[in-house]
Amino acid sequence: MSYTANIDGYYGRFGGAYVPELLHHNVEELRLNYERIINSQTFQAEFRKLLQDYVGRPSPLYLAPRLSEHYACNLYLKREDLNHTGAHKINNTVGQILLAKSLGKKRIIAETGAGQHGVATATVCALMGLPCIVYMGAVDVSRQAPNVARMKFLGAEVRPVHSGSKTLKDATNEAIRDWINNPEDTFYIIGSVVGPHPYPDMVAYFQSVISEEMKTQLKEQTGSENPDAIIACVGGGSNAAGAFYHYLEKKEVKLIAVEAAGKGIDSGESAATSQLGTEGIIHGSRTLLMQDKYGQIIEPWSISAGLDYPGIGPLHAHLIDSGRAKAVSVTDQEALDAAALLARLEGIIPALETAHAFAALEKLSFGNKQHVVINLSGRGDKDLSTLIGKEHE
Ligand SMILES: *Cc1c(COP(=O)(O)O)cnc(C)c1O
Repeated sequence: MSYTANIDGYYGRFGGAYVPELLHHNVEELRLNYERIINSQTFQAEFRKLLQDYVGRPSPLYLAPRLSEHYACNLYLKREDLNHTGAHKINNTVGQILLAKSLGKKRIIAETGAGQHGVATATVCALMGLPCIVYMGAVDVSRQAPNVARMKFLGAEVRPVHSGSKTLKDATNEAIRDWINNPEDTFYIIGSVVGPHPYPDMVAYFQSVISEEMKTQLKEQTGSENPDAIIACVGGGSNAAGAFYHYLEKKEVKLIAVEAAGKGIDSGESAATSQLGTEGIIHGSRTLLMQDKYGQIIEPWSISAGLDYPGIGPLHAHLIDSGRAKAVSVTDQEALDAAALLARLEGIIPALETAHAFAALEKLSFGNKQHVVINLSGRGDKDLSTLIGKEHE
């Protein structure tokens, strides 16, 4: 079985490019050019240089001694939290802005929910001197004020979206409308392994630097490129795709995708898409999504804004459906407890999204000789008030 996208962007029966006629030209332009550009020497040289000098790569692979002792196995943390802007998202926006430049685009648009992808996009637009417009649901604009301030300070224009539920899916619709109206000069930077082909394939490649580095680092530290397992949290699935990428075909490496159960799988306030979702089309690809019997999207819930997405990237739908990856779900409270444990045992405050990956350790068991990598997707500064508030309740 293959775990990479076929020529039409399918992973098994998931993926593809389901876009309205008016968008066909834009998506097709990208599809016909992305591999050639990404594989060119010029692109690779610029991408690698920025990852090193601007993002700060390679990110360390840290054997966490006290956490390892606590769980009686060898836990290695891939420190994406140490990247510029504090998470893995910058790997992808650096890649996409270089692609936009190669295509001669002069204007960048993006959508954002929690604001993390908006900040990563505003950052690379400032770096390249390109105008940046970020669509954001009006509800999210008021919930995520610090990130709105960051985007504006970086020179981006934040456009609040007042339609529908005024959240991420409405912001996405508005970004797509903008793209349709500006097909010639505009590039749409998508923030995860979602959207129509070639986005999932492209974003997975930009994030694959994570597992590329892991191979070398594990070889140095343990004598083998392969860990026994890799654990990553999944919103749309980009950090997990990056952490799994070079191990997809290595069956001996267990892949564990951790979803947000919110207040509990059966609570009606959850984001555990692989368990609650059914097949359908969202944001241009066939995948698993949370929908009602009329095909209307059910609003997801998670304490972590980066995981409360009603779908899951088509690669992950395929990995889970085929049994290659195991899905684990973690509640809000379990994630908060895991964040506190990591802070106290290792002096590292994780993002709430990332805390879900750590909480999965409570539900899995490994032998004391086993090597397990956890992708530490981002730092927790942005979540401190939630972390502290709950701890003192
Ligand atoms: C956005 C975000 C996520 C979720 O997005 P993926 O595409 O699933 O990786 C996870 N962790 C952090 C720190 C994030 O900012």
